[in-house]
Amino acid sequence: MTSSYPTSPISTDVIQSTTQRLLDRHGPEHAERIRRGVEQAAQRWWAEDGDAAAFAAFCESHFLADSEALAATFRRLEGILEQIDGHLHEVRRELTAPIDLDTGPLLAADRLLADLDLASHVNEDLFATKTAFLALLNFPVHTLAERLQNGPAWDRETWSRSRLMDRFASRVPAAVHQEITRVLTAVEQYVTEYNVRLDRLVTPAGERPFPEGLRLISHWGLRDELASHYVDPQPSGLARQRMIFRVMERIVRQEIPAAVIDNPDLLWDPESNSVRPVEEGAPADADLAAREPDTRYAHLLDVFHAVRKVDPYSPWEPTFIRRRFERDRQIPEKEVEALLISVLDSPEIKDLARLIQRRLGRPLEPFDIWYSGFKSRAEHPETELDAAVRTRYPDLAAFAAGLPELLQRLGFSADRARWLSEHIAVDPARGAGHALAAMRRQDKAHLRTRVPGGGMGFKGYNVAMHELGHNVEQVFSLNGIDHWSLAGVPNTACTEAFAFLFQHRDLEMLGLRSPDGDAQRKETLAVLWNTYEIAGVSLVDMGVWNWMYRHPDVTPAELREATLAIARDVWNRHFAPVFGARDSDILAIYSHMIVYGLYLPDYAIGHVLAFQIARRLRQGDFGAEVERITRQGSLTPDAWTRGAVGSALSAAALLEEAREAMAEEEEAVLSV
Ligand SMILES: [Zn+2]
Repeated sequence: MTSSYPTSPISTDVIQSTTQRLLDRHGPEHAERIRRGVEQAAQRWWAEDGDAAAFAAFCESHFLADSEALAATFRRLEGILEQIDGHLHEVRRELTAPIDLDTGPLLAADRLLADLDLASHVNEDLFATKTAFLALLNFPVHTLAERLQNGPAWDRETWSRSRLMDRFASRVPAAVHQEITRVLTAVEQYVTEYNVRLDRLVTPAGERPFPEGLRLISHWGLRDELASHYVDPQPSGLARQRMIFRVMERIVRQEIPAAVIDNPDLLWDPESNSVRPVEEGAPADADLAAREPDTRYAHLLDVFHAVRKVDPYSPWEPTFIRRRFERDRQIPEKEVEALLISVLDSPEIKDLARLIQRRLGRPLEPFDIWYSGFKSRAEHPETELDAAVRTRYPDLAAFAAGLPELLQRLGFSADRARWLSEHIAVDPARGAGHALAAMRRQDKAHLRTRVPGGGMGFKGYNVAMHELGHNVEQVFSLNGIDHWSLAGVPNTACTEAFAFLFQHRDLEMLGLRSPDGDAQRKETLAVLWNTYEIAGVSLVDMGVWNWMYRHPDVTPAELREATLAIARDVWNRHFAPVFGARDSDILAIYSHMIVYGLYLPDYAIGHVLAFQIARRLRQGDFGAEVERITRQGSLTPDAWTRGAVGSALSAAALLEEAREAMAEEEEAVLSV
């Protein structure tokens, strides 16, 4: 007897005989449900769940042929899972409250308790009690292809049954989860400790162009420093940008001397790649210049090998790539690729590049993918903004009390504004701030923002407006939803779209002059350029994961060479025609690629989607439209976007607005 599935002891014969007995008992009208249910349960059945006879007996006694019984069972499962997930979420919120909230010094107990996560065992227990098998035997685990094909004709009940089953799509042993957590923790640590001492960089002429104390994390800090020289140009800005770019090249090629990473005692000339001690007159030391031995790529391979262990336990999506696109993101990889290329190869990008080149007064260099010169200097000084916030909201409590009024001014009816406010708790954050959704409808969402010294300033208010956008989406899509299993939005890109829409109205809500047409135009151009850059980086991320799956047994050095080749290929296809220069490998610099595999495309999708939604909201009633769109719940992004704006996910709106902005920009230049 052979088993049909790598992790299951249930043989093809047992599946067939069990199916036949159920068909004999319930009749051929249930044939499709029986076949699928028995197969789904068999795929996820392990030896510890019982032998073949136990499997057959379970299927025979738990298949529900009666549609009333089926509906009642679904209601019970959906209802109880809302309570389980929701209450455990509340417990977790209490456990981490001292870490997340500004509650004063931490106790030793707080740090230990923060590691306690009762929810991590729930799915395992649902399988152990066979609740999961009851669900798998009776309700389909849909693939993305089925949802895209049949979803348009589904009613809300069918959607909610389909969505509920996502949690049973993979059954993964605890040891595999633990291995993934262990690897990711190590890689995250590598990334968060990868600091470059810019203050220790020297030019070939021996100058140190960066100020003392400047220590930045790769790649975020390096990129932001590079970009800041566009907004605030200084005479030596270009030289510094070129130097940072050289550092990035040394990192992705793994030519960076290992000893200089986060080391204040060494001076490094990234041009000649030579190192010498910081003491006066010390000579260059070749031993100190020994390169970092492909550690970056060794970590990426570790992540690959860890997440690949889930493959045999995911019958419908047997690779990490397919799980990311088809289960998490719910957009086929080919469609995401097409969306990215629609931006990368658009004529608007070529025009925008010409505009940037004109503004820079020099040919583009590869690091100009981070051009940020569209951002105009702030019209209101920070002190004026702080004062405006303090007048309206002297502290966080005043902000909380003012929520109904704020929501009304944003465009919600008095009734809705009150209802939303009742479902949002406002907390002082220890870190930068975040929006914490609730998970059962009796609970509240939490808006968290940092309030230094107890008084609210503009920075805290600006973050609060962003988080409020998340919270409003969260409250409508949970507390205002008809089926709990449809709570939420299809993916993170959708909720970010609302957060940015709220955040953009921060000045308007303070009664200050909101950004004028010129600022809006520049914002649109900045977003298109950012989308172009992140689309290129996303293609590299996708290319590298596909390559690893084709070459699972490579060494870190081989992965390094492949990654650089993929980065150069994406560059030569989509950037060289715009920039002129060929063969840059800079698109491989993102740290996300190493630690958060295949996350990057969500940024590009988020930019594109935000433009589609913003356009819709400008045409209609802001409050009513936000409510209508978010209460659709967690459909596929395709169904959600069609419902939201009447058309599919597409870069057309972004490209069109950029085209208009460029035309107006030309006019503005000519009329000066
Ligand atoms: Zn956000």
